[in-house]
Amino acid sequence: MRIAMIGTGYVGLVSGACLSEFGHQVICVDKDAGKVASLRNGGIPIFEPGLDEVVAANVKAGRLSFETDITAAVKGANAVFIAVGTPSRRGDGHADLSYVFAAAEEIARALTDYAVVVTKSTVPVGTSRKVEAIIRKARGTDVEFDMASNPEFLREGSAIEDFRRPDRVVVGCDTERAREVMREVYRPLYINETPMLFTSRETSELIKYAANAFLATKITFINEMATLCEKVGGDVQDVARGIGLDGRIGGKFLHAGPGFGGSCFPKDTLALVKTARDAGAPSQIVEAVVAVNDARKVEMAKKIETAFGGVKGKTVAVLGLTFKPNTDDMRDAPSLVIVPHLQEAGATVRAYDPEGRKEAAKHLNLEFCEDAYTALDGADGVVILTEWNEFRALDFGKVKNLLKKPLMIDLRNIYRPAQMAQAGFHYVSVGRAEAGA
Ligand code: NAD
Repeated sequence: MRIAMIGTGYVGLVSGACLSEFGHQVICVDKDAGKVASLRNGGIPIFEPGLDEVVAANVKAGRLSFETDITAAVKGANAVFIAVGTPSRRGDGHADLSYVFAAAEEIARALTDYAVVVTKSTVPVGTSRKVEAIIRKARGTDVEFDMASNPEFLREGSAIEDFRRPDRVVVGCDTERAREVMREVYRPLYINETPMLFTSRETSELIKYAANAFLATKITFINEMATLCEKVGGDVQDVARGIGLDGRIGGKFLHAGPGFGGSCFPKDTLALVKTARDAGAPSQIVEAVVAVNDARKVEMAKKIETAFGGVKGKTVAVLGLTFKPNTDDMRDAPSLVIVPHLQEAGATVRAYDPEGRKEAAKHLNLEFCEDAYTALDGADGVVILTEWNEFRALDFGKVKNLLKKPLMIDLRNIYRPAQMAQAGFHYVSVGRAEAGA
């Protein structure tokens, strides 16, 4: 089967590489010529564990290649995936579909034989029909095609495994011919009995937003419980475990922290709010989630200020800047609110992030350090913003020697309060009692 993947970002590159591993002939297209040149030279433009090996193996096997020219990729393809970005539109929070529609225009010009055009990007309800209309308008009955919606659920940081072993594959389409092609695309998963859910296109589009909004709600809920725990003397990790062991609730996405960020939850919750309002069925729950999460990031900056007894003239060492570990993605990371807030309050911020430095430098003006201990040297305290594994086993003796005062604010709860008090730290975490002097 021949596949064209339009957009070679986090989703397009991972999906394209994994589909070529399934045995398909895949051409990944990107309009960013630098990205394509780098991929052709064996470079990987993003940090995603294991991706380099999958790309290299399939390029070598002749199943995966990269193009800037959409025509060559779409010619003769059985399935054409649209995996371009759908960021928040400036000003109103709707999903910006300009990249999707531009890709649709290009696909329309390039289609030769029957193909299924698939929206893999996260797009609001009705987008697949709009893409279909664009292609029809350009080509009339001159070309045969079907549309499908196939939202992607992979998570950055574990994207390869998520694509190889998804909980489910969701496909929205209206014809049996399209269903057949999509079954063939996901044949190895279909044989593995991965649940494959065929729905209407509208339902499929909505499933993606509903899933992300639900997960964002879980995070926001436990964050509110964390604040309550701090006020009344509870321990949010025990609360999370206590409720998560209930099979109806489940323990995942119940980690209290500085608020959700990343390339999906913030923009997708906002877009769902807009879609729901436009449809005359506003979602009060999701609207509250967006507002509570926005406020949370500012609250966390204030929490840091309080723990430092004010940050004016002080040096704050920050460990981790990306929105989560194992990615270089900085989109909507809590650090983008917290760090500038601290700087405006008069702090000098010095930071270390294992993979995020290049992306972070595009948004934050601070001193980037080569490792965690360099960041700590002479600082008035340390803040853990992202739970990279390498921060989980810091040498406490060394940390104390380097810091002016043994102050640690752990916004990811990677250490235990009693352990930190014993090690001589003033330790402030989320939804748990403060420990140490
Ligand atoms: P991204 O910004 O990393 O990649 C998009 C790529 O598309 C860029 O390289 C851009 O140059 C390219 N592009 C834009 N217009 C193009 C065109 N006309 N022709 C060729 N290339 C074009 O975005 P991403 O994170 O991969 O997200 C893509 C979509 O997948 C979004 O809708 C997102 O919401 C969704 N999604 C993302 C994730 C994630 O974890 N990143 C997970 C699930 C779903």
